[in-house]
Amino acid sequence: MAILPIVTHPHPVLRKKAKPVQKINASIRKLIDDMTETMYAAPGVGLAAPQVGVSKRIIVVDAQDGSGLFQVINPEIVAAEDFGVMGTEGCLSIPGLVGDVPRYRKVRVTGLNRDGHRIWIDAEGWLARIFQHEIDHLDGILYIDKATNIREVKEEEEEAAEAGEAEEAGEAGESRAAGRTEAAQAGAGASPTGAGAAGTSLEAEAGGGE
Ligand code: ZN
Repeated sequence: MAILPIVTHPHPVLRKKAKPVQKINASIRKLIDDMTETMYAAPGVGLAAPQVGVSKRIIVVDAQDGSGLFQVINPEIVAAEDFGVMGTEGCLSIPGLVGDVPRYRKVRVTGLNRDGHRIWIDAEGWLARIFQHEIDHLDGILYIDKATNIREVKEEEEEAAEAGEAEEAGEAGESRAAGRTEAAQAGAGASPTGAGAAGTSLEAEAGGGE
């Protein structure tokens, strides 16, 4: 696997309508693996193929809430309920900004898994928001097209992101106990900006805590 470079706005690939995958072969599966690794490394909770410069309809999502990893080829939203739930989103392709975006509370997504089998996902809340954000990417739509109150990420939020990195480094270190301590400190440092900001920004999420 490999970590791929993430293209940023205003790269034209982000505005193209991505093409459906016709045949799931080894190179598609490698792309999915690389996208997954890239998402986790960022760290982010979702990634769409155009964000790594590939105009194909593939997304990977891991809300980091226990719902697990989803790798979906040719995803489509086939049902949606309760439009208008507001939440704060960011995007790995638009670094340094967040905005408030109205989304459906609940969506049903269908698509193909990496083996070409049809899958159905009923997502609510945070997970539903991520699917809507990522599937928008496949149609050349960015969250800033729909957002209000677009703003720069506050300095405290960046500190929280750095704390998140420190936490990961700690966990990976030799001493597990030391890692825990660092994680606890990182958590304390991040808390003043509130769960809201760090916990609800999408791909730019600081990670870990929420
Ligand atoms: Zn995005």
